[in-house]
Amino acid sequence: MKTKSILKWTGITLIFITACLTGTFLYFNHHIDHVLGAHTEVVDISQFSPISDPIAITHANVLSTNADSILANQTVLIRDKKIEAIGADMVVPEGYHVVNANRKFLIPGLVDSHIHLKKSKNDLLLYLANGITHIGEMTGMEHHLDWRQEIKEGALGPGIYIASPKMTSEKNLRATLRSRVEKRHQNFPTVEKARKAVRDFKSLGYDAIKLSSFLTPEIYFAITDEASKQEIDAIGHLSVWLTLEDLYKSEQSQLAHVSEITKALERAFGETKPVYYINTEEYLEYVRAEADGIARKIKEKDMVVVATIWLHETIALQDFDLPNFLKTIELEYMNPGWVEGSAVSRGWLPGNNSYENPENTDPESMRLDALVWDTKVQAEYIIIRALMQQGVKMVTGTDANGADGVIPGFSLHEELRSLSNIGLSNAEILQSATKNAGEWMKQPIGKIEVGYEADLVLLNANPLEDISNTKNINTVITNGQLLTRQDLNRILLSVKEANDRSRKVNINEFIE
Ligand SMILES: [Zn+2]
Repeated sequence: MKTKSILKWTGITLIFITACLTGTFLYFNHHIDHVLGAHTEVVDISQFSPISDPIAITHANVLSTNADSILANQTVLIRDKKIEAIGADMVVPEGYHVVNANRKFLIPGLVDSHIHLKKSKNDLLLYLANGITHIGEMTGMEHHLDWRQEIKEGALGPGIYIASPKMTSEKNLRATLRSRVEKRHQNFPTVEKARKAVRDFKSLGYDAIKLSSFLTPEIYFAITDEASKQEIDAIGHLSVWLTLEDLYKSEQSQLAHVSEITKALERAFGETKPVYYINTEEYLEYVRAEADGIARKIKEKDMVVVATIWLHETIALQDFDLPNFLKTIELEYMNPGWVEGSAVSRGWLPGNNSYENPENTDPESMRLDALVWDTKVQAEYIIIRALMQQGVKMVTGTDANGADGVIPGFSLHEELRSLSNIGLSNAEILQSATKNAGEWMKQPIGKIEVGYEADLVLLNANPLEDISNTKNINTVITNGQLLTRQDLNRILLSVKEANDRSRKVNINEFIE
């Protein structure tokens, strides 16, 4: 009798615990999904009917393959999703849809090499509407592999390069739970498990292995070594537990932010001096002294670097002047889930933005905060200029949908303008946003050349004269499909309306 009742109560307790755990899991999953955009209404792409190839673009001013000059009055033929022919005196064969470019400027589709897709497919349309025909997903999830395949087979969207989920090796409960629930971050406590994961990610079809900021030296070197053996790029962050010397020794082939370098410099400076922002001039002198040597090492390693500088320029604005900053971005197009945040995660709006610090009202501490951000950005400028001078391969990236304030598609044009403000030439910026990205992704993209993918943007004005002309878009051709300005406007309106219907918090005060 007694045993029976013990068994009964044990059973009830187990059922109760299981129900609690399942409930907690579902609760977290629901709220995480909301932020990732899984609950945002998806725009039905079948309502758009792009013109399919064969297409002929006549009388175009074509950007040269080195992105530094214009070839006047060219005809470009597109067939089977590829550039078929380019020439000045060409007769257009029969059956081609002819677009008279009327001396407008034809450039390769732009590439944002550092973005995060998460779970709202609407982002794919924002890239196209902004002239971006290829994206680099930096924290991949398995459904992104399906999206990539659908697009290859003709669905409307940019080509996607997909890095694996972000690999960490932390010893805390949060990292373990993230591995289980969120899956975008996966934790590997042992060398064997980390090496196996590299092989598994490669066989799943990921294009690269994503390294996080939290990898022990042992696991970091195991991952980068295994990636090299498996001939897959190891890319991303430089762990906070590593130095630049470790980076030079490793097989890592790309840095996802210039700030990976400056953060390593902050750590090195902090070892002998008080924290870097107490004596900003001395710290910046140190960065200047180190910059050329670092750039030479990065060049020797043939490492690719993404700047993501605009994001870092906005952080002080988001910290001190958030309502006005939000008015300067196209907030209505951003997945409302993340704008609003949820019970388990912050959003972008005043009161829950992760860069904002409303408690900080003391003038002296506000001044120090502003100085910290300004110093960080100044250090990044120094490094970017040094990297360019040494001829390091830079690719343009924004961290769209990965950090507060960075909206898919629109943000790339902000990044290009920031690079121009730092002093890069328009040709250097266009190279970074087109051909360099194609070379890095090892794909035939980023050049208007025979055999390359038919991903093109027709601009109303010359981007070599003013880089902001990349925003002045007349036509986008992606995967051999042509979208007119009217199509692009309809796409943008559809995303905005789908977002508005999914919105729980009114954002009208931030829309200008
Ligand atoms: Zn990122």
